[in-house]
Amino acid sequence: MSAVPVPLALLAEVTHRCPLRCPYCSNPTSLVKRSAELSTATWLDLFRQAAGLGILHVHLSGGEPAARSDLPELVAGVAETGLYSNLITSGVGLRESVFARCVEAGLDHVQLSIQAADAGTADRIGGYRGGFATKLEVAGWVTSYGLPLTVNAVVHRQNLDRLPEIIALARQLGARRLEVAHTQYHGWALLNRDALMPTPEQVERARAIVEEAGGRMVIDYVPPDHFATWPKACMGGWGRYGMTVTPEGVVLPCQAAESIPGLEFESVTDRSLSEIWRNGLAFATYRGTDWMPEPCRSCERREIDWGGCRCQAMAYLGNPGATDPACSRSPHHSQFRSRALGFAEAGVDSFTYRG
Ligand code: SF4
Ligand code: SF4
Repeated sequence: MSAVPVPLALLAEVTHRCPLRCPYCSNPTSLVKRSAELSTATWLDLFRQAAGLGILHVHLSGGEPAARSDLPELVAGVAETGLYSNLITSGVGLRESVFARCVEAGLDHVQLSIQAADAGTADRIGGYRGGFATKLEVAGWVTSYGLPLTVNAVVHRQNLDRLPEIIALARQLGARRLEVAHTQYHGWALLNRDALMPTPEQVERARAIVEEAGGRMVIDYVPPDHFATWPKACMGGWGRYGMTVTPEGVVLPCQAAESIPGLEFESVTDRSLSEIWRNGLAFATYRGTDWMPEPCRSCERREIDWGGCRCQAMAYLGNPGATDPACSRSPHHSQFRSRALGFAEAGVDSFTYRG
């Protein structure tokens, strides 16, 4: 068994509340209630623990973090520990006065999500009328306060054909970085697979468009699993790079890990972050390579992608300890791909929205 790595990043899901209802949302279909959310003091203590553990980045996420009235205090808590703070926001529900207090408290970076490049499509996908206009306004605040802006666009069959417009919009908003991320099918996204799954032709076109898009804005392209040859190193490897803390304080190796039955997750209200990271059973179960079955066990890529995504193996094969079916060496890969083709070709356009 190799040494436990030092984590780099903490994804702090400070709330599950969110005014939007994106059908690709990877949050669980059963959300943590406001009354169960961690208090301000507990989050601040957690940030101090994270710094002690060697973490460098805290991503304040949700849900929509602006749904919490203590957002500036949370940002200040991150800043006081010397950690880099990234606010991951839909922009909806964030007031300029609150944003200004976050900047004053030491906010380092903003990642703003967009659903499409035009109001009609964006508001339909986000399930919130007026959301698009709000996002444009928030992007303006970020750049006018001098903060670096990353625009995040989750792409799928219903917005992928407008990728050039999405890239143009991100440029126009002054983004330094655009993340074009294909949908990960967890939570609500899994429910909406048939309405979201892109066709292989769309995926190929998107790859070419991103490759050709030059300029000063950096574009990170997160390709889809279903038409890939190799899986992604999910979370940079289970229990290697970072962790997620849910609104009620449960510490997860990845955002969707609660979809794996039988794993016991621990809470920061019961044990320190350091103990959970180093000794927690949920982290130890799939950390490293000892757990791997064949073909991963003898594969030369096992310390590159770490066997892919455990939650995807669970969702498709009912076995979280199997090789990710996104891998072309998995015996289930062709079935995984043909099921995706079936979803893409079914032509379902309507979304299942939360609530
Ligand atoms: S994906 Fe959409 S619904 Fe889910 S948390 Fe983000 S903005 Fe809210
Ligand atoms: S067999 Fe396993 S380790 Fe090898 S590429 Fe596939 S998922 Fe990665």
